[in-house]
Amino acid sequence: MTDHTPPIITIDGPSGSGKSTLGRALATRYGLQFVDTGLLYRGLTVAALHKGLGAEDAEAIAELARTAHLELNTDPTKLPGTWDLRINGWDPHGEERDPSHARLLSEVSAIPAVRTALLAVQRAFGLAGCVAVGRDCGMVIFPEACAKIYLEASDAIRRHRRASQFEEQGTSVDPSLLSREITERDRLDAPRTFRDPDACVINTDLNDISEMIRIAAQYCDDMGCTAPQCPSQPRREERV
Ligand code: C5P
Repeated sequence: MTDHTPPIITIDGPSGSGKSTLGRALATRYGLQFVDTGLLYRGLTVAALHKGLGAEDAEAIAELARTAHLELNTDPTKLPGTWDLRINGWDPHGEERDPSHARLLSEVSAIPAVRTALLAVQRAFGLAGCVAVGRDCGMVIFPEACAKIYLEASDAIRRHRRASQFEEQGTSVDPSLLSREITERDRLDAPRTFRDPDACVINTDLNDISEMIRIAAQYCDDMGCTAPQCPSQPRREERV
């Protein structure tokens, strides 16, 4: 990495562990793009559904991944209600977060050719520097990242957070559907969720957002993320 390389910070962890909240905060702090990689898989799933494709149509979904124009709103300070994702210029207006798509979402994410196609899309964001959040950002997409964070939280806390997110959006979701969605997605996503051995691990169970951000920002500062040069990272474990 040269002195002029824009920093890349990765945040991985399961659903509801706090990745987006922390990612937006760090991207704002360091003036970087916020790249929610899960939205790419979600967008592709919605596009597949609209074409009448199912998990058995792996090749057609892979072709969609290679040809669809997936755009992310990378502004970490964007206001709620502003577009998040566009698929060939179309805004799915939240359909990408419908928990009833959970099984297909994990199945789409498991298609190797889909992952290969989206790898290039994700890496392109890194050229200008970014905070990337997802499952494999530190180990697979940006192994060169200057700071790598892994968030963990108990199942109960993660369920509570996901329910609150829907409430804030004014969407009512059946709690048992939400619970099944998280359990099922955890199980299916496990083979593609990686904790880099060098990552700074933060347990967010106590749900103190400002403390989580403080610990992560201190770690990123220590890694040189405010400076152009980012040294390699030591391992850390913190509990919030
Ligand atoms: O992060 P989020 O829960 O929005 O991700 C949605 C889905 O996208 C995950 O359940 C997983 O199947 C897939 N995903 C992935 N690799 C990533 C990010 C998300 O496979 N880097």
